[in-house]
Amino acid sequence: MATRLVCRDCHRVLDVEGDEQCPACGSNSLTEDWAGYVVIAHPEESEIAEAMEVTEAGRYALKVR
Ligand SMILES: [Zn+2]
Repeated sequence: MATRLVCRDCHRVLDVEGDEQCPACGSNSLTEDWAGYVVIAHPEESEIAEAMEVTEAGRYALKVR
């Protein structure tokens, strides 16, 4: 199983492999060095989403180095 990449800019957990861009924000600053995994289904009702400044549903990493 391939290591999941996380976008350093928007913290989305991505299904891409290699040197691709983040499909959400277009950043090419992706990292394998991340920890924690949170699924935000309803960002408008989620305190986690508010704390992370997330406005779109999706999968996000809690810590990105
Ligand atoms: Zn991104």
